[in-house]
Amino acid sequence: MPSANHDGSPRTGELELGAYGARNLDGAACLELNPLVAHKFFDINFQRDVVRRKAAQNICARCVVAPECLQNALHGPAPPTRGVIAGLSAHEVRRARSWLAFETGALEKAPRRPRPQWLPRPDAAETTEQTLVELDEGIER
Ligand code: SF4
Repeated sequence: MPSANHDGSPRTGELELGAYGARNLDGAACLELNPLVAHKFFDINFQRDVVRRKAAQNICARCVVAPECLQNALHGPAPPTRGVIAGLSAHEVRRARSWLAFETGALEKAPRRPRPQWLPRPDAAETTEQTLVELDEGIER
């Protein structure tokens, strides 16, 4: 049975606070949090709010829908400009999206910033799950 938001409205899987990538994802760990708490951890300055960022990344590392969240972030509607999405910074997600757009021909020029090392090559056998495992290991180090 779906739970309710703190204001009594039903949770639909759609995040209202919008600083992360869990769109329409039932089981998203960030949706289990009080929205105000989720906002505090996820809608942050990724570089400066280190403690909150690590807390959000730890939540993402245990999230059962992290692979789908990453796919949403990479291929869904434009992500937010700040905060944590699938354990990554919004900035990093936008950079990855630029590279994907370039590699699929939607962008003519290669992005100036380097290609994220974690981003699977279009022709690679590597899966999103493997990418997330590597990201989790990076967080724990
Ligand atoms: S991976 Fe993180 S941002 Fe994405 S749905 Fe899970 S907890 Fe939310």
